[in-house]
Amino acid sequence: MTEHDFGSDLQIKLDRYGQGFIDSHCHLDYLQRDGDLEGALERARRNNVTGMLTISTSIAGYDALQTLSDQEHDIWCTVGVHPHDAEGHKDLKVEDLVKRAAHPRTIGLGETGLDFFYDNSPRDLQEALFWRHIDAAKETGLPLIVHTRDADETMIRILKEAGASGKITGLIHCFSSGRALAEMALDIGFYISLSGILTFKKANDLRDIVKDVPLERLLIETDAPYLAPMPHRGKKNEPAYVTLTAEKLAEVKSVSLEDVSAVTTRNFFTLFHKAQ
Ligand SMILES: [Zn+2]
Ligand SMILES: [Zn+2]
Repeated sequence: MTEHDFGSDLQIKLDRYGQGFIDSHCHLDYLQRDGDLEGALERARRNNVTGMLTISTSIAGYDALQTLSDQEHDIWCTVGVHPHDAEGHKDLKVEDLVKRAAHPRTIGLGETGLDFFYDNSPRDLQEALFWRHIDAAKETGLPLIVHTRDADETMIRILKEAGASGKITGLIHCFSSGRALAEMALDIGFYISLSGILTFKKANDLRDIVKDVPLERLLIETDAPYLAPMPHRGKKNEPAYVTLTAEKLAEVKSVSLEDVSAVTTRNFFTLFHKAQ
């Protein structure tokens, strides 16, 4: 695809989706499991949420996501294994990810990464599994959705190594790490995705970091059903609430809500270039 083709293709997507907000990271299968999906989709659409990316956390859960994204014009999915489940996916091969990522509605790899806060799986297994996602991202050219918690130092080392050994793209989802990791991610061309945490009263450190990240490198997400933004904190989250994070982002960056809508939507389609 030439630069020019990509440009006009991007324009078509912006005409279609650019008047609203894209939830770049949600878990619609969890809402479905609780019987809340239909209502949640309806409320999201009414609230000007024009697209939702439902994120894979296990291989067993992937097929349901693919089915959902086949059925709904405004839902895409990813394939990947959450670091919490690394122990249960010891034998996962790069090929297992690559072949599922060939599906037309599957537009990214993850969520993957490191969670040293919960340590639900041994750290060496988390790291090994993360590398398999990195290799799959390189092979497919699709972006990585990175989950990282209390693991800044190791994450910086791995992303540096991954970036040095070939081109990768991706994002740090639900960003809640330190400034050094934000700078490193931006250095290797990654985007940063902001969740409802941005609206929390005590998130001043996060808001200070976000002030220094160009809007052109930011995405917004809910991570529903978790992490509902204010004033719904502690309750079940859903894609409709991504607009609350968008409003807070407009305030933090001193830009209009229209700018947040237009720029984060463009960022989404630039990074997730396979989304149609
Ligand atoms: Zn996550
Ligand atoms: Zn998630």
